[in-house]
Amino acid sequence: MTKFPLAVIGLLAFSAPVLAQRVPPPQVPVDPHVVALRDAALKDDVAYDIVEGLTTEVGPRLAGTEAEARARAWAVAKLTALGFKNVRIEPARMQTWVRGDEAAEVMSPFPQKLRVAALGNSGATPASGITAPIVYFASFNDLVAAPDGSLKGKIAFVSNAMAATQDGSTYGTFGAARFVGPAIASRKGALAILIKSIGSDHSRAPHTGVTSFPAGAQAIPAAALSVADAENLERMVKRGQPINLHLTLTPHQVGETDTGNVIAEVPGTDPAAGIVVIGGHLDSWDLGTGAIDDGAGVAITTAAAKRLLDGPAPRRTIRVVWFGDEETGGAGSKAYFAAHKGDHHVLAAESDFGADHVWRLATNFAPDNAAIADRLAAALAPLGIVRSRDKGGDGADIAPLVGAGVAAVDLNQDGTRYFDYHHTPEDVLDRIDPAQLAQNVAAWTTMLAVVANASEDIAPVAAADGKAR
Ligand code: ZN
Ligand code: ZN
Repeated sequence: MTKFPLAVIGLLAFSAPVLAQRVPPPQVPVDPHVVALRDAALKDDVAYDIVEGLTTEVGPRLAGTEAEARARAWAVAKLTALGFKNVRIEPARMQTWVRGDEAAEVMSPFPQKLRVAALGNSGATPASGITAPIVYFASFNDLVAAPDGSLKGKIAFVSNAMAATQDGSTYGTFGAARFVGPAIASRKGALAILIKSIGSDHSRAPHTGVTSFPAGAQAIPAAALSVADAENLERMVKRGQPINLHLTLTPHQVGETDTGNVIAEVPGTDPAAGIVVIGGHLDSWDLGTGAIDDGAGVAITTAAAKRLLDGPAPRRTIRVVWFGDEETGGAGSKAYFAAHKGDHHVLAAESDFGADHVWRLATNFAPDNAAIADRLAAALAPLGIVRSRDKGGDGADIAPLVGAGVAAVDLNQDGTRYFDYHHTPEDVLDRIDPAQLAQNVAAWTTMLAVVANASEDIAPVAAADGKAR
């Protein structure tokens, strides 16, 4: 694990003008109050305390399960102890899936065990498993091109190499094999599907994640092989002999259970100025302890709000939301939007891309609010953060708000190593670098200090500028 000492953050500040040559930081003055909050936050230890506590005292917290309920109780106690106002749980209901036993083994011609993890919503094999020949697809597109019925009685194996990128853009492209590959294989008659993990590592840790089957489609057993095991299976395929594989997956749908959002506020002095909503998701996959996904996100946003809570009251109310169920279907964000769409939200932002440093700012302010974006860019530049020419508004939990025209700010984190650990047993506290975590808190504190105190009105954005996804 690369460490990222504070001294390097200083170097990054030097390199920012070079990186940002095409979009230089605007030469606008930065409010000394913002500077003081930003620089103090580089020594933040509240975020680390939150993610350390959550991963140690709760651990994995799969959406809809008893563990997620324990996480909500933990969150209420923590947010209350930190001094936040209006701390509460807003319950919601969801369809819940839980993992069972899982094992995969090549029976012939090269007998050996492979490491797998079922995908969320995977169907089950009999407890004794299934044995079937595999059909190899070098890419997702090759699976799509397979004739209907051609996979009958077979296990589809979709290989699909994903490269690491700073902005994580390869996830959307290669993730299709996981998001919809199982439904496509089911439609073509497959008995089951194995995909190469959607990950940029070469370890034996499989990457889980949700898949979905449309109404009427049979939920076939669907699992991810670790990248290393998928590569081994590819080498077997290249030897040209038929491969028989034994697969056991016994997850099940448990029906409707409780999830919920945990909400806390920093009250503003001017109720007419609207609400700034920030947060991340409290639920996690069950293989690791959900440190980078997304214990870090709730920790970063809460620690930043705490810095505003402890200073002079901001003009706008800051609402921190620890969303329930993001991972398996988004019941948390849907429930939040249903309950609060009438609230006067003026800005939304979420942190859900690990714990490595923020490197880029993207916004989607209305043209009349361009000066706020300029002040943000100027205030963030000393943290090594450059300005994107793309519009902001990414993130599953804020998507309904952004789709409804609420302005958004993205503080993009460096995703170079995020997909090495994402949704694996390796998503644990040890993957978090405290210095980079603190740089995140400094960026979020800066953002809040600028937007929550902006003297101008923050306008809704045109639907076309939102990124409803
Ligand atoms: Zn996440
Ligand atoms: Zn996730």
